[in-house]
Amino acid sequence: MGKVLVIGAGGVANVAIHKCAQNSEVFQEICIASRTKSKCDAIKEKLKDSPVKITTAQVDADKVDELIALIEEVKPDIVMNLALPYQDLTIMDACLATKTHYLDTANYEPEDTAKFEYKWQWAYREKFEKAGITALLGSGFDPGVTSVFSAYAMKHHFDEIHYIDILDCNAGDHGYPFATNFNPEINIREVSAKGSYWEAGHWIETEPMAIKKVYDFPQIGPKDMYLLHHEELESLALHINGIKRIRFFMTFGESYLTHLTCLENVGMTSIEPIMYEGREIVPLQFLKAVLPDPSSLGPRTKGKTNIGCIFTGVKNGKTVHYYVYNVCDHEACYEEVGSQAVSYTTGVPAMIGAMLVMNGTWQKPGVYNVEEFDPDPFMAALNKWGLPWQEDFNPTLVED
Ligand code: NDP
Repeated sequence: MGKVLVIGAGGVANVAIHKCAQNSEVFQEICIASRTKSKCDAIKEKLKDSPVKITTAQVDADKVDELIALIEEVKPDIVMNLALPYQDLTIMDACLATKTHYLDTANYEPEDTAKFEYKWQWAYREKFEKAGITALLGSGFDPGVTSVFSAYAMKHHFDEIHYIDILDCNAGDHGYPFATNFNPEINIREVSAKGSYWEAGHWIETEPMAIKKVYDFPQIGPKDMYLLHHEELESLALHINGIKRIRFFMTFGESYLTHLTCLENVGMTSIEPIMYEGREIVPLQFLKAVLPDPSSLGPRTKGKTNIGCIFTGVKNGKTVHYYVYNVCDHEACYEEVGSQAVSYTTGVPAMIGAMLVMNGTWQKPGVYNVEEFDPDPFMAALNKWGLPWQEDFNPTLVED
């Protein structure tokens, strides 16, 4: 049916491309373009027996002109931005110039300020409307599936949702004392930032990792989890009727936190450039270079992830609790597509979002977060494409 241009060739892109190739009725041609072309060629090589036509290209996605030239040459129906959040705006600009649909999995973050928010991308709404093209923001797992879970809960189980707790548990063990499961720079920026949650119409800020809870996760068991700021809180606070509070928790093991504290204390997580032997370097980027590449963790990671949302609200005047979650097994993901579950749980929803835009189901001129569309086709596709979800109408709640 169509052609997709994927920008980026990291862990998430690897999964999304494998999933597009499995879905050859929708994706007949895939062009993989990234800064390092050899990584695109390596993914293409893994899929050499696929019926889908795959091409590769080199592109610097910080440069709008290069992107426009590539899009004009490839003529895709949609661009899947699976590079880094820093490239969101340049890729959106190139999509506007070429009138091509756009999708990403993480909101824009300026490279020199560890502050992610939607304001920069939401400012493109009118331009996308006028150009008659769709930008689908945050079609990963969180944001992404957690946002679709929220829209689904609202549509089927509640008149009003008052409380949402998003719980992200990764119980995978890769055997290293310290490594990050996705891009180390993005991951460390996220966890070393102040926490915050949304309550009664405004943000409440906390010190990094200041709020800790224990939750007994289905199929995993009890884990320590910490309150973080997370990007879907911002859009869900706007899009869910009657919402009083939204919190986001992520699990971290003791070894991870001890290493992180130590690295912070010695200045290795800083994004302020320093001079080193006559050259300017950013400590966090240097740290990334010495840590294990997340894509190398796949073959060594064992265990499961469990990511989901617990909702409390009312339906027909009665209080309702509803927990919807997905459990994903690292080794099964690796066996299927050669990446662990953190990349898998992001790459599958990226493919699903692209499919729904391409087949017209989720096509509407403008810039949208995933919870603004009908959740039902996305929920059905999750079950079909490897991320089945489960429901519990009597869940254990996270204590206040
Ligand atoms: P990786 O670091 O593994 O991959 C990023 C890719 O983007 C690399 O191939 C990299 O190229 C490429 N890239 C970076 N800068 C440029 C540039 N200027 N021009 C062209 N290509 C570039 O990251 P992940 O695959 O783990 O993550 C991809 C995205 O998914 C990120 O935005 C991340 O925040 C997001 N994410 C979202 C999640 C969700 O649930 N919503 C969860 C996890 C991740 P090179 O190899 O040369 O460095």
